Amino acid sequence: MELTGMNVVVAGAGIGGMAAAVLLARAGASVTLVERSSAGHAVGAGILLQPNGIAVLDGLGVAEALRRRGCRLDRALLRDVSGAVLAPLTAPAYAPGLDHMLAVRRAELHTVLLDAVAAEPGVRLRLGTTVTGCEPDATVVTADGERLGADLAVGADGVHSAVRTSGGFPARARPTGHVYLRGLVPRNAIAAEPGETWAPAGIVGGAPVDADTWYFYASATAPGVAEAVAARDLAALRRLWERVHPAAVPLLERVRSFDDLLVNDVVRVDCARWYDGRRVLVGDAAHAMAPTAGQGANSALVDGAVLVGRLATASTVEEALADYDRLRRPAVTRVQDRADLLSRLAHQRNPAVRWLRDVALRAAGGRRAGDRVAREAQQVDPVALRELVRRLDRSGT
Ligand SMILES: Cc1cc2nc3c(=O)[nH]c(=O)nc-3n(C[C@H](O)[C@H](O)[C@H](O)COP(=O)(O)OP(=O)(O)OC[C@H]3O[C@@H](n4cnc5c(N)ncnc54)[C@H](O)[C@@H]3O)c2cc1C
Repeated sequence: MELTGMNVVVAGAGIGGMAAAVLLARAGASVTLVERSSAGHAVGAGILLQPNGIAVLDGLGVAEALRRRGCRLDRALLRDVSGAVLAPLTAPAYAPGLDHMLAVRRAELHTVLLDAVAAEPGVRLRLGTTVTGCEPDATVVTADGERLGADLAVGADGVHSAVRTSGGFPARARPTGHVYLRGLVPRNAIAAEPGETWAPAGIVGGAPVDADTWYFYASATAPGVAEAVAARDLAALRRLWERVHPAAVPLLERVRSFDDLLVNDVVRVDCARWYDGRRVLVGDAAHAMAPTAGQGANSALVDGAVLVGRLATASTVEEALADYDRLRRPAVTRVQDRADLLSRLAHQRNPAVRWLRDVALRAAGGRRAGDRVAREAQQVDPVALRELVRRLDRSGT
């Protein structure tokens, strides 16, 4: 299908929305990207990109900038609370550039995508504009009562998506009961290796995101921990971690105030379909998931590439949206299920079950098994994905 002359409104300029907007514009569409925040800056600490997400960013021409600003991870480790290795967390070696993970500050990822949006004549960015609804014919309604007509509306407006809740997407947004803390701390003298520890009180993980900064995340749902978080009591949190997970204490010691921590409730979103009429969902709007597979943002990037790929090759918008749903929804649902399983395993409180879990992980956690699990999480072949993104670019960028 010819995308030139097609008007698309993308709701939400997060990672998924910005990537989709640039992909659409490079394929010929005229895009209005509508973002409720007036600053357009990132909320978040760090993020780990995997080969599928890197493939899309590489195809867009922004991965090299991120490699310069972030940290390439060739290996990370999953450990138990004693520090013993349970399994390697590796990126499969698909091809040069697609054989590692990348740890970056969210702000850096946001900046390179925002620069790509700004450099794209086919994208008009409207900050400070809140979408309140979207009609099946793709008319997007804003909080000011404006009606933005379009040939296609893309809901990239996150877990509480206004496009999704406009109707037409039988959906369930279910709080998982898990809460995560995230933060950036000075890297100096942190002895930790990149990776994750499954402690009795939950998950603690992290990685360097540049020469001076360490990104960490920790689940905060265990009894005591949850109360300390609710009371925003950093000292109590430090005392608790000291008892249950001493290795995490140096991280919390570097946090100056509770306000420097981000606190997120994890919600899982399931939709019976990702499109309705001429509106379609990408990213967390369609499939918010537990962070345990590290695939929320990576999957959002893949969504945009597959959606625009189908629009460019199908005969009609309807056919493209149906193909997109068929190609993406089952694959992402499998990853959501895996993320939930990992979350259940990681948050196991029963010591006997934890012991059994660790024995099983050590037995299965060789490099080959780790490689297979990591490949399944990518959903698509990253090499083909990067080629697709490059092929879609009709602008000669
Ligand atoms: C602790 C934690 C760690 C994580 N780590 C990773 C990781 O390492 N790797 C990974 O791949 N994923 C990770 N994730 C998941 C990842 O953060 C999300 O999946 C990703 O940010 C989703 O991107 P998105 O663009 O779909 O949505 P969002 O990032 O939520 O962006 C939505 C955008 O839409 C805007 N918006 C919302 N409503 C409206 C409206 N009504 N009108 C206009 N604009 C609107 C918002 O302001 C925002 O800019 C993690 C999540 C958590 C909680």
